[in-house]
Amino acid sequence: MTDKNVFTRRGFLKLGGLAAMSVPAISVAKSFGGYDIVTSEEEYGGFLVRRHTKKNPPYEVNDAVYKRYDLPRSAGLNKNGFLDHFRRKQNLNKNIANKVTGFTRLEAAFAGGASSFMAGLGVIYSFEPLDYPHPLTKDLSKMPPWNPGEYGLSAKDVSNIVKKAAKFYGASMAGIAEVDERWFYNTEPTSVEEMITLLGDAKPDLSRLDPEDDLINLFAKTLRKSRDEFITNVIFSGEVDKPMVREDGTKVIPKSMRHMITMAFEMDYDCMETQVSGLALAAAGSGYSRMAFTSASLAEFIRALGYNAMPMGNSTSLSVPCAIDAGLGEMSRIGILVTPKYGPRIRIAKVLTDLPLVPDSPISFGVREFCEICGKCAKYCPGQVIEKGGQSFKPFPTGNAGVKKWQLDGNKCYSTWADFGAVCHTCIMVCPFNKPEGWVHEATRILIGARSGSIDKILLKLDDASGYGVGKDPGAYWKKNNFMHIKS
Ligand code: SF4
Ligand code: SF4
Repeated sequence: MTDKNVFTRRGFLKLGGLAAMSVPAISVAKSFGGYDIVTSEEEYGGFLVRRHTKKNPPYEVNDAVYKRYDLPRSAGLNKNGFLDHFRRKQNLNKNIANKVTGFTRLEAAFAGGASSFMAGLGVIYSFEPLDYPHPLTKDLSKMPPWNPGEYGLSAKDVSNIVKKAAKFYGASMAGIAEVDERWFYNTEPTSVEEMITLLGDAKPDLSRLDPEDDLINLFAKTLRKSRDEFITNVIFSGEVDKPMVREDGTKVIPKSMRHMITMAFEMDYDCMETQVSGLALAAAGSGYSRMAFTSASLAEFIRALGYNAMPMGNSTSLSVPCAIDAGLGEMSRIGILVTPKYGPRIRIAKVLTDLPLVPDSPISFGVREFCEICGKCAKYCPGQVIEKGGQSFKPFPTGNAGVKKWQLDGNKCYSTWADFGAVCHTCIMVCPFNKPEGWVHEATRILIGARSGSIDKILLKLDDASGYGVGKDPGAYWKKNNFMHIKS
């Protein structure tokens, strides 16, 4: 951060003559226009937040058009994505060989270490208990289900315990959503992560990729297994009391598994600031590794209480709508979740369970309205793949029809990553909501809640002038002793 950025909140407020708009750090609850309006330093980083109900969520879906997402259409899993995956790897190797700043062997090794548990070792994201459980969980899970009532605990108390446990195991944020079957995939490559791990450095024979192929077929061909082993349909049924896979490959989830514990994991600000580089790749890899560790730990905790628990990374269900329903944040122009505390600089994991819990309320805090005016992500996106205009219900190659949002061509985004030889997170870095503690973050927290287009424009200008969002020198990263990320 440059000296130019080091303003105090009070200084900024004086600058804008807005000191009177400062809000107290304690939670307040007021009903206004049909919403509860609250602020909480702990939960919402001090933002003024509207609490919605599931019947009146902060998004619009046209159920006549909407269909559950077909995962193999997604950017990383279609033919385009597969080819780009290997092109990215080739370009990364070239960067390492050429000692390109930010992509040297040092940063690549750092990213590799951070990503060690990224795929959950191929065993985490399963409804089955771990096959190497701790003796404690192994014994406890055989006992009758824990009855919180015996200890004077309500479902709300248990919900708070579970969210506390999620944070103890490593989540930056945790919320609970009632299951919405619309967010589950209608086809799922059950072991893509495992397949990626198994493939390792094996060079696939791309000549075997025909126009009808996708990543799943290629995995199947490469490993000489049937496609059916990697694809399942997900259905909910009242006839089973444990998750199972039918012979036809359908994954059956008991209707009793009604709650999705959704967790957000902050990615390191300093690494992300060095877009595009191996350091940003380390930030993402570390997020994925923590997702696996935390969701596995939380699932084992719940299993030891005698209930079903199914940890999920990006698998089985879309993550962003679950996180919105769980009150972790709002959808943005980039199509990813923006949280009050960390902005879009997060990754998401989930645990589906039948432990009786109380869902949280979806929230809004002005992200969509700010996105309408801002558009910084679309302006600075190196691939120019983010919609610069307004939201629509239109389908796009890697997205779903029937949800009102900004279009983003995931295939072109993935190709941009391949050009760089690394994961690009430029859109996340330039976002004004992606701020460490500092004056813009403080001002944004306070002023976004005021909901005024003219204030949004002022904030945007200040954000531009501050120098935030400009990629920083990766070489400087190793000399910094302090971390800028926000501790939860
Ligand atoms: S990740 Fe990079 S290429 Fe993809 S949308 Fe964001 S800025 Fe654009
Ligand atoms: S950069 Fe601006 S438009 Fe893009 S997600 Fe962030 S606030 Fe929205």
